[in-house]
Formats: sequence, C-alpha cells, structure tokens
Amino acid sequence: MGIARVALDCPMNSLFDYRQPGQRLTVGQLVVVPFGVRRQVGLVLEVAEQSEIADARLRSIESVMPVEPLPAHTLALIRFSSDYYQCPIGQAAFAALPAVFRRVRYVAPEPQRQYVLTATGRNLNADQFPVRAIVKRRLLQALRSEHALRRSDLNALSARAVAVAESWVGEGWVEKLELIAPRVKPGFMTSAQHELTQEQRNAVEAIAAGFGSYSPWLLEGVTGSGKTEVYFSLIERAVGRGQQTLLLVPEINLTPQLEQRFRGRFPDLRLVSLHSNLADGERCANWLAGQAGQAQVVIGTRLSIFTPLPHLGLIIVDEEQDGSFKQQDGLRYSARDLAVFLARLRQVPIVLGSATPSLETYHNARNNRFGHLHLSRRPVASRASIKLVDIRGMPKAQGLSDEVLQALAARHERNEQSLVFLNRRGFAPTLVCNACGWNAGCSRCTARLVWHLRDAVLRCHYCGHQERLPRSCPSCGNQDLKGLGQGTQRLEQLLGVRFPDARVLRVDRDSTRRKHAWHTMQDEIRGERVDILVGTQMLAKGHDFPKLTLVVVVNPDSALFSTDFRAGEKLFQQLMQVAGRAGRADLAGEVLVQTQFPGHPLYQALVHQDYRSYAEELLEERRRAAFPPFVYQALLRAESQSEAKVMEFLAYAANQAGTGRTAVTLYDPVPATIAKLAGHHRGHLLAQSASRTELQRFLSEWRPRLVEKKATRVRWSLDVDPIDL
Ligand code: ADP
Ligand code: ZN
Ligand code: ZN
Repeated sequence: MGIARVALDCPMNSLFDYRQPGQRLTVGQLVVVPFGVRRQVGLVLEVAEQSEIADARLRSIESVMPVEPLPAHTLALIRFSSDYYQCPIGQAAFAALPAVFRRVRYVAPEPQRQYVLTATGRNLNADQFPVRAIVKRRLLQALRSEHALRRSDLNALSARAVAVAESWVGEGWVEKLELIAPRVKPGFMTSAQHELTQEQRNAVEAIAAGFGSYSPWLLEGVTGSGKTEVYFSLIERAVGRGQQTLLLVPEINLTPQLEQRFRGRFPDLRLVSLHSNLADGERCANWLAGQAGQAQVVIGTRLSIFTPLPHLGLIIVDEEQDGSFKQQDGLRYSARDLAVFLARLRQVPIVLGSATPSLETYHNARNNRFGHLHLSRRPVASRASIKLVDIRGMPKAQGLSDEVLQALAARHERNEQSLVFLNRRGFAPTLVCNACGWNAGCSRCTARLVWHLRDAVLRCHYCGHQERLPRSCPSCGNQDLKGLGQGTQRLEQLLGVRFPDARVLRVDRDSTRRKHAWHTMQDEIRGERVDILVGTQMLAKGHDFPKLTLVVVVNPDSALFSTDFRAGEKLFQQLMQVAGRAGRADLAGEVLVQTQFPGHPLYQALVHQDYRSYAEELLEERRRAAFPPFVYQALLRAESQSEAKVMEFLAYAANQAGTGRTAVTLYDPVPATIAKLAGHHRGHLLAQSASRTELQRFLSEWRPRLVEKKATRVRWSLDVDPIDL
C-alpha cells in the first residue's frame, strides 16, 4: 500500500505521511486527513512506497476531494513561493488556493450564472417602480447599461439585488445564462478596433515574436499612451494560438469598467476575473474555469497568480510598480516577481506595463535582463501639463494658493470638474498645544491621533482607538488648542466657503466606509452632479472621469523627507498617476502642484514628465547607499505586548546568525517606524546581501533556528524583499 506525503496548513515546514486509501493517488490531489483530533484538507505533494513512520502510527487518508489534481507547474510555483518567501509549505499551499478548498466538507460550486434582461425585461420602464424602490430602479438601470451582471456585480449594487433579480426571473424579465458563455446584448456596441500606431505595432511585434519562449518586457508609457490597446492585440494573438492569458492588475483597478472594456472589445471572449471581493463560490468557479482551460483570459489581482492555466501563453502585469502586488501577511509574496518566475517556468512572454516602472524593473530593463519598449505619445489626447505653484510666501492657514483658487473658479465656470488631491502619506490633521508642545497621541500606538472635524473626535488610523476632542490641553490646561496639518474634511470646508455654489464631494476612506457608497459616488461624478472632488489615494488610480480637467496636488512635500528610502519613487509614481486623471480625448488637462521646494529634482523631472531622468538619479543614489535594487533585503519582524520580549527575541535572532558571514550583512535590531501598534511593541532586524543566492542560503539556515527558540508571547515573521520597512 502506498504512502502519500501531504502538505497541511500548519506552521511546520514539512510534509506528513499518510496511508493511501484504496485508490492510487497522484501528486496535486486534495485529500481529507485526520490531523491531531481534527480533520483537515491537505495537498498531496509526493507519493512513495514506504514511510519512515512506524506502521502502527501511520494514519490513513480519509477521502479524496472531488477536484482535479493541481498540475505540476502550479505545484512548482507553490514550492518556489514557499522556499523563496520562507513560508512553511502547507501555509504557502493554502494561501495560494481558494478558501473553499480548505473545507473538509467541500461542495463543488454551483455553476455560476449571469443575469441578462429578456425581451420583455428590456421593455420595462423604471417609472413602473415606485420612487422609493431604489434597488429595483438601480438594478434595471445596471442591467441596461452593462449587458450582463453576475452575482458579485449584483452584490456590489445592493445587498438585496440578487433576491430582486431572482424574482424577476420568475416574472420572465430576466434570464440566467451560463457564466462563461459569451453574450452580446442586442445593440451592444463592441468598441472599435483602433489602427495601431507605429510604436504600438512595434511593441506588439516584438513581444509576439517571443510567443512560446520566456521573454520578459518592460512596456513603458504614460496613462493614455495606448498600453491597453497593446495588451488587446497580444491577447488576440494568444487566443488565436489557442492559449490563455493571465492579466494581473492592481487591486483598485479591477473595476467593472475595466472588465466591461475587455468584454466590449472581445464580445466572444471567455473571460473570468479573480479577486478577493468575489464570493467564495464564484472565486472557486472562476478558478476551475481557468484550470479546465475554458477561460481564455483570467484578469485578476495578486492572488490570481496561482490559478492553474494549462494553456498559458502570455502574462501581463499592468501597473507593475503597484504596491498591492505584494501580499503583506502569511505568504508574503510579490505577484509581480512570481509572474516573472512563472513566465520562465512556462516559457511564455511576460509584459510589465507602467508609466513609472519600479526601480527594480527599470534596473532590469537597463541591464538588458528585460527588453524595454516605450510608448512615447498619447494617440488621442495630449498630455496634461504639469505646473508647480510655489507656496513659500503663502500664509499657512490659507491652504490653497490664489493661483489654484483661480484655476478652480475657471473650471467651475466652464462646468468642468476639478480634483483636489491630498497626499496623506504621513500627513494628517492633528491637535497640538502651542503653549507646552503637547500633541494628541494614541495611548496604544506611537502614532498621532487624527482630528476628525465632523464628528469632533480624535481617531487613531492604525488601531482605531477614538476619543473625544479635549476642551483644553491635558498637559497644561491651555484652552487654545490648534489644529495642525490639513485633512480632506478641512479642505472640503474651505472649498465650500470659497465656492458656495459648487458641489463639493469628499472621497476618502471615511466617506466611502459605507458599503456601496463609492459606487454611488462614481455615478454622481460621471453624471456631472459634482464640481470639485476632494480626495486621497483612492482617487489617484484607474478611474476615468471624462469631465475632469484640473488636478490640484496640495501637500506632497512631506514625502521628500521620509525615512523610507522608497518615498521619492512612490511619490513620483503617485503624482504621475494622479496627473493621468486630468484631461481626456477632447478636453486638455492641467495639473497644479503646490510645493515649498519647486527646485527639487523630483518636481523638476515631474514638470517635464521625465521619469527616466529622475529614475536614473534615484538609481545612482541607491547604488551609492547600497539599497535595493543593488542589494536584496529580508526583514525579520517581531511584536509583543512586552517591549523587552521583542528586543530579546531580535537579539537572539542576531546571535543565531553566527559570525563569519561575509556575504550577508545584519543590521542591529531597531524599533519599527510605528514602534507600538494597538498595544503591541514592534521591532525588526534587517538582513541584506548583494547576492540573492547568498541571502536565500542564509535565510534557509536562519529560519529553523528562530523556530527552535519557541519564543513565547512574541509573534514574528520574515518578509523577503519587503517594500515597507
Ligand atoms: P493606457 O492603457 O496606456 O492608459 P489606452 O490603451 O487605454 O492607454 O489608450 C488611451 C486611449 O487612447 C483610449 O481611449 C484608446 O481607445 C485610445 N487609443 C489607444 N490606441 C489608439 C490608436 N492606435 N488609435 C486611436 N486611439 C487609440
Ligand atoms: Zn499644553
Ligand atoms: Zn492607535
């Protein structure tokens, strides 16, 4: 009787031996096994004839899950992730798989359906419904404008939308079609296929020449330069070859509009999406459609990198510099880096697209490890012009300069929209006492409390702690407490006073907290019921608002003095991204950046929209300072309610690294930037090497020793290639 070696979701980095059941197993199968006193799902990674474990102690596999075994290439990717990111194999495996596969009582997901209006349904009129039947009205409108809605779309619309749609099936107004059956609504316009520009054609030809082999490319081009059109052409070719495409996009970009654009361009395409907001069943169904080879295109966020795609022919990573490709807990992988590994493993071309590539990717292109393609012009719209507004002489309290106010007024007069963008990284309004220097800090974290104007509370943005606004300084009794810094709420107020007849909409994490709020807001903006938008990061990416012609950036300067060596790179990327929001095909865009340091090289490069010159400068800085991409890093993080425990653990770790290492540098243990978070003290230890291999070798020897310590009351983790220190 054979043995199966099974990976289980537990912190031990080893496989567990089980007796095979009557049937012969293959690697890649999911099985239910007894583990301790419970039953658990495991992934068979090896089969063998014999076990080292005594026969009497060997337990048997209980059942085999009714799922196709994972293919060898997916197992290879999981193994690589586990090794490279120093994550126990079972944890890595189950971080990679959809959650439903973790259930011992797995039921295959119901076939997913999409809801489409029938002929009778298309004749419905929203006015048939009472004015207060908001869900019905909204549903009808959505079914009309998008040609098909899936369960997840309905849930995004309203919690009751599925129930309403089901009742409409009964009425004969709506029919349910199979999920991946392509469907074009009668009269639904497929978007026209553009004649590619010379640059686009060159890019497509260069990349397509590499079909069937590993060839990595950086496709550089500003927003609107036509990268997506290049993706379209490549996908068309991959489909023509009978192959599947994996398209990775940042979390915030995977919007219904994006999917709609793809469906519009390829009405016959079998496309599925994968992201964390899908219901478990839908995510599983889409995964299985990929694994079965049915889905021709999988478009997804970082987690979709693990989808088994038997006919994979092409990988595209859009906005490859985006931070959301890095998983920040459990298996701390970079989906972009894994995508490159996967492309090599599967011998397919990979395209990394960006307006402002990460320095890691830029460096690879510069060293000819990646091919470098550039789309230098926008085929339709001209680029927005970027201007610096010197605010050195401006009174602090004013917040917006005269030049900015005039520009806002002009847009308002022309019925165009403006966006006032606040870079909130390390910057938020807080409360200070000018008499004694007291400032409002969180009692559980080393973070300042943020002053929320509207609810008159101080709130910690790290742990959620909240307290009422004090009437006087808790330290000296001074009654005249002042706000410091500028928040979106203050800006919203200020704009309301300056432009009393303008409709101002604030979009940030607070104002969109309610479910569906952001959805509704986008409708308001597209419907031109908003004049001035005030917002943070959420508005920087991905959203196209055709009437938006002015972007004002209020306070980017703080990032120039950050302790994070990536701050400059991130700021430039973010400003270019937000600049991409201004101006569409027929309306020229303008970007105004308020700064006290107009001469700074970052802003100079920004004005000329010349990322390369700035990237070259940053690279030179990093080379001199020995920072990534010239070295490789791993961060050991530890946290505990006891500060002493953290430091003791890190000191132990440093000690275990041994001496005589030359290729790996270990820095001293230090408190984290947020040294205390929700009552937990945090510290870290940085390991660094000019050689990736050496660092990997070191980590694989080091980690087991850290496990041996069996540290109590300390939580620790290793982060390989961390993007935040
Ligand atoms: P990106 O993905 O780089 O932001 P897109 O591919 O979305 O750019 O292109 C921006 C706009 O330009 C879109 O409206 C697109 O339809 C249009 N466009 C792209 N390529 C062409 C072309 N060759 N001819 C005409 N219009 C184009
Ligand atoms: Zn005081
Ligand atoms: Zn806190």
